[in-house]
Amino acid sequence: MHLARFPRRRYTPAPTAIEKLAHLSAHLGGPEIWIKRDDQTGLTGGGNKTRKLEFLVAEALAQGADTLITQGAVQSNHCRLTLAAAVREGLKCRLVLEQRVAGSYRPDASGNNFLFDLLGVEAVTVVDAGTDMTAAMDKIADDLAAAGRRGYVIPGGGSNPLGALGYVACAEEILAQSFDMGLSLDHIVCASGSAGTHAGLLVGLLGCNAQLPLTGINVRRARLEQEGAVHALAERTAALLGLPSVPRETVTALDRWVGPGYSIPTEEMVEAVRLLARLEGVLLDPVYTGKAMAGLIGLAREGAFKPGERVLFVHTGGSPALYAYQDVLRSA
Ligand SMILES: *Cc1c(COP(=O)(O)O)cnc(C)c1O
Repeated sequence: MHLARFPRRRYTPAPTAIEKLAHLSAHLGGPEIWIKRDDQTGLTGGGNKTRKLEFLVAEALAQGADTLITQGAVQSNHCRLTLAAAVREGLKCRLVLEQRVAGSYRPDASGNNFLFDLLGVEAVTVVDAGTDMTAAMDKIADDLAAAGRRGYVIPGGGSNPLGALGYVACAEEILAQSFDMGLSLDHIVCASGSAGTHAGLLVGLLGCNAQLPLTGINVRRARLEQEGAVHALAERTAALLGLPSVPRETVTALDRWVGPGYSIPTEEMVEAVRLLARLEGVLLDPVYTGKAMAGLIGLAREGAFKPGERVLFVHTGGSPALYAYQDVLRSA
């Protein structure tokens, strides 16, 4: 795909590694599990939003913006990385934080919340669940304009077609890298939240005719609702690239590992976070990759993959949030 026609900033110097999880594979006794280390992308703490921001911030700069405005949950990795990109580019950053769980915002909380302050956020607005987040961000942009400044609004998770190009590029990277490594993958698994990662990977794989199935593991929504959101964004991303329509049946987003709701811990998440730490020294996160890996482990135990099949888990980052969940994750 001709991605070079889209302006891009570079925040990760080289492809992120693909590594074999030998101990986890032996522990599960079925498929071979591999991991794409997108927790090690550039910008403070790394994670999947860095790839989307390469395209989004390039557009912000082209428009002459002096301030990035975005939104997320109270422990949002996307907000941390948008702020980190602003710092890198010499821009200001304002955040709108949604209390998706009532009363979940604590100004003195650790994890990403601590980093918002340390990285020098210009202003944080905390709102209740169900608030019109787009309107809240537009209001900030209007206030800045009235003061002679220029804001650039980035949607939650950086998940619009431009941001999703980051994961179209990642799909190309995975295909080229696995070819170089002589690694023939059979399946890819990723977390599915605001949908940009899932949709971007899907469009990249389809655009390259990879014929490699992709399974998203939901962290928030019910299956049909999430599959609809991923499909809609994939269609718009494909249109941006001039690719054909995305078949609905290529979108799979399983909801069996969401638990009681977004960011609420589950036993399977705690097991997955501990297993990856203790078997592989890999830090997952409690909100996204812990539940996504719980899904991969659950599928492997159910026999969804054939013995010896090679399954790639896309590690989308998030480990700074671990420090806000110590009470759930400590063994004693
Ligand atoms: C945002 C996020 C995701 C989900 O990615 P989307 O593109 O929003 O679906 C997964 N993992 C981590 C660590 C994230 O911060």
